[in-house]
Amino acid sequence: MNNILEIKNLEIDYGIVKAVKGINIEVPRGSIVALLGANGAGKTSTIRSISGMTKVKAGEILFNGENIANLPPYKIVQKGIMQSPEGRLILQGLTVEENLLVGAYSIKSCVIDGEKISRNQRIKKTLREVYNYFPILEKRKKQQAATLSGGEQQMLAIGRALMAEPEILLLDEPSLGLAPLVIKDIFSIIKKIKEDGKTILIVEQNARQTLKIVDYAYVLEVGKIKTSGTASDLLSNDELVNAYLGG
Ligand code: ATP
Repeated sequence: MNNILEIKNLEIDYGIVKAVKGINIEVPRGSIVALLGANGAGKTSTIRSISGMTKVKAGEILFNGENIANLPPYKIVQKGIMQSPEGRLILQGLTVEENLLVGAYSIKSCVIDGEKISRNQRIKKTLREVYNYFPILEKRKKQQAATLSGGEQQMLAIGRALMAEPEILLLDEPSLGLAPLVIKDIFSIIKKIKEDGKTILIVEQNARQTLKIVDYAYVLEVGKIKTSGTASDLLSNDELVNAYLGG
């Protein structure tokens, strides 16, 4: 199956507020797909509905062909979906490495090619991968998470999500509140994570930076998809560039 994730006619309501009004999204395996749009467009509601944190009113969320809409979040994590949340929500009182290990709570031992791999071996291997993506986290592994800079905390949030070995990584506004150089760094690591075989769905207001790394993007406007396309499709649309990319 080429699409790891397919969203069909998704609707989300908060009482009388219709946040998402029947959208369709496809995420091909091994790609980076973005949901772009202004404040209040419905991006966060959509991504939170995939991870089970926001209730779906109607429609389907097909993950590897199975409808996971409204399953409890822990079951969705077990299926291979992990979100790095907006605002990061790392555990400030724990060290960097303890935060990463919390991300691995759902990991179990497994058998690959007839060989048993223990839980600890799996966690150690993934921790190595996370430290390779983010060497600064290894340097700071014994430090309290609260003492990290904003960019390092964002790296920790992404690293923690990777520790669950997800098939698809959901990123909610990874650039939020960060300086341009830090954003550039984090986005190039996100691209590397994709090149190593992960599928990524990213929600962003920073359309310009995001379009540099994505394979395909959807632009949301008040709960509907206004348009979608590759970065070059979207960048050749003057109306869109003026509305979302500051001309
Ligand atoms: P932002 O980037 O500001 O988070 P967004 O595109 O992610 O924007 P959502 O956060 O999904 O948009 O919000 C979509 C709409 O739903 C907005 O009108 C918002 O006010 C409303 N909304 C979101 N969460 C709730 C909630 N818990 N209760 C009521 N209304 C909500």
